[in-house]
Amino acid sequence: MRESGYPRAVMRGRLRRIRLPILYYHEIGAPRSKHVVDPDDFEAQLDWLASAGFDVLSMDDVVAVYSGVRPAPVRGVVLTFDDGRAGVRDFAAPALARRHLPATLYLVTQWLGGVAIPESERYSGFASWSDLPALRDAGLTLGSHTLSHPNLKRMAGAGAEREIRDSRVRIEQEIGCSVDHFSYPYGRRTRAIERLVRAAGYRTAVVTGQRCNARFASLHRLFRLRVDGRDGAEGVQRALAGIFRGEGTGRGLG
Ligand SMILES: [Zn+2]
Repeated sequence: MRESGYPRAVMRGRLRRIRLPILYYHEIGAPRSKHVVDPDDFEAQLDWLASAGFDVLSMDDVVAVYSGVRPAPVRGVVLTFDDGRAGVRDFAAPALARRHLPATLYLVTQWLGGVAIPESERYSGFASWSDLPALRDAGLTLGSHTLSHPNLKRMAGAGAEREIRDSRVRIEQEIGCSVDHFSYPYGRRTRAIERLVRAAGYRTAVVTGQRCNARFASLHRLFRLRVDGRDGAEGVQRALAGIFRGEGTGRGLG
């Protein structure tokens, strides 16, 4: 193994050309906040991904790509949603299921139960625990976004550990399957927090950062690109602008 943690053969071969953007949304629905994407715009964005020849990967697929088990797609993209909001249940999940596209939904467990939701997060409602089986059946991978959505950088170790570990346990109890993926609230992390996330058993964790992931990405610090309500129907083109410039397939993304 090299210092990077990747086997040499993997580095030379399949990982060489990885360019993997992960998009993140918060909510789909009536535009009450910049965080909410109009449902028609969202559908147009999914249709654009198909017409531009993108492979939409799940977070499990991302693990497979970075382990060298699965070849890196020429044009891959990952769709994620933070918080666990009602519009993801009402609009995003059906739109994704109709197209057989995977996505990951990172849940704040207390907010699913309506507990201690801050004023700034009340721009839309939340899904409930009873929605989770149907969301999973629609093709959404359920991940954790902590118990209460704190800035983990500002928490003492034991408190952060509880937020990271207990949210996973709680969701696993509810849905009866493994929760392997984590999203840091506000994208905030430190090396110590990242170690807690690994120790809790998560296989991946995502930040923000407005960057694409290349071949040496850390699976517990994967960057994401934001799509929000201000971006309109061309939100995904805008988020991906420049990343795939010059690729041989399809049209350039400029
Ligand atoms: Zn969040």
